[in-house]
Amino acid sequence: MLKLYNTLTRKKEIFKPLKDKKVGLYTCGPTVYNYAHIGNLKKYIGDDVLKRVLIYNGYKVTHVMNITDVGHLVSDNDGGEDKIEKGAKEQGKTAWELARFFEDYFWKSLKEVGVLMPDVAPRATEHIKEQIKLIEKLEKRGFTYKTQQAVYFDVGKFPNYTKLTGQKLEDKKIGAREETVVDKDKKNPYDFALWFFATGRFKNHTMRWPSPWGEGFPGWHLECSAMSMKYLGDTFDIHTGGIDHLTVHHPNEIAQSEAATGKQFVRFWIHHDFLLVDGEKMSKSKKNFYTIEDIKTRKLNPLAFRYFCLNSHYRSKLNFTWQGLEAAQNALNNLYEDYRNIFSDTTKKKLVGKGETYRRQFIDAINDDLNTPQALAIMWEAIKDESLLANDKKQLLLDFDKVFGLGLSKIKRLEIPAEIKKLAAQREKLRREKKWQEADEIRKKIEGLGYKIEDASEKTNIKKV
Ligand code: AMP
Ligand code: ZN
Repeated sequence: MLKLYNTLTRKKEIFKPLKDKKVGLYTCGPTVYNYAHIGNLKKYIGDDVLKRVLIYNGYKVTHVMNITDVGHLVSDNDGGEDKIEKGAKEQGKTAWELARFFEDYFWKSLKEVGVLMPDVAPRATEHIKEQIKLIEKLEKRGFTYKTQQAVYFDVGKFPNYTKLTGQKLEDKKIGAREETVVDKDKKNPYDFALWFFATGRFKNHTMRWPSPWGEGFPGWHLECSAMSMKYLGDTFDIHTGGIDHLTVHHPNEIAQSEAATGKQFVRFWIHHDFLLVDGEKMSKSKKNFYTIEDIKTRKLNPLAFRYFCLNSHYRSKLNFTWQGLEAAQNALNNLYEDYRNIFSDTTKKKLVGKGETYRRQFIDAINDDLNTPQALAIMWEAIKDESLLANDKKQLLLDFDKVFGLGLSKIKRLEIPAEIKKLAAQREKLRREKKWQEADEIRKKIEGLGYKIEDASEKTNIKKV
């Protein structure tokens, strides 16, 4: 029984998909105007754990993640320039070149930290038609108005706009007013743009398309509604994002989707908390960020960063330090070393007794709102348990790694040469016959050949010295 904390209801709920064992999962993707940093990656690792836990529970997941390559302004409240156009100008590239370059970097970074690729990764620029259609629907239903600068969604017409945050609309009004409202014809500061015109402050905007309202480009929030509903249907199971999307982006997505369809948009909303540096959010604008390259330059494994994230809960803030990452690297090395040293002749999959108990404990942990720190603790307990049969230990670690994604299956386990195995068997026989001295001599001989014998209660393990 999988339980997830649903931001919409503000409690842990039993998760059941809409359709049998099929899950529709949408995760907000990157704005590709700069290098993805490890703060971003914490969020994508968190999404990946969720997806792997769903698969572990036997669900067939359809995962959609968008690529924002147009429309995300510097402020989430429609202020400032488009992040991609701004980046392109600064770097002397076209907006298209910049977007593709950073998109590639993003995919490479995800692979380095063991993230499974989405089934569909739609780009906003390739779904302009769908976004225009959605605005037309909203227009027909009376949810839009037009100014000189943009077509807006009229939040005042949509009841329950703040259902996700539980905020009062009045408080939101004050918050939004504190930002510079760049369009004086906006009815309310929290109304948001569905379509910007490529005139006035956007007259030099290079990415532009024709539309029934005039040439321009879509607002950022629109793409997530248009593309998620295109690939997953009007109502789908799970939508995730960083905690910074909770107050503006996600309420806007809900408003425009539900206003257009008259149906519930998403059943479960999941939000990941931030990666911090010195107590502050790691971010591109504060320039306090590190990338996967920085990790590799220090000869650390990007998967150590994944381990570092797994060791904290996705709804908690996580403070990044190099010391913390080195500790994670040590833990990962120990895990690889312990796995490599498990000597087991069989590949029997079925777990019995203690092995099955550990597996149950692991499932309880991950199914309790993705409690990965607890699941890691259970893994270490199993590793240290000398009474656990070697084959059970091996199977368990491989099984847990379906969720952890730490690359265990790529670790070559120790191949014990036939000669050593033969000597170990002889020693075992002598021990059973209580010929301790002769048994000990064989042990020394084995050690002389570079292997070590460890007697656990149910089985003898052989390791490389
Ligand atoms: P962006 O590319 O800026 O749109 O961000 C992509 C994703 O990374 C968003 O879902 C953000 O919520 C998330 N994000 C950005 N900074 C951090 C951080 N320091 N810690 C965790 N997630 C972050
Ligand atoms: Zn989104």
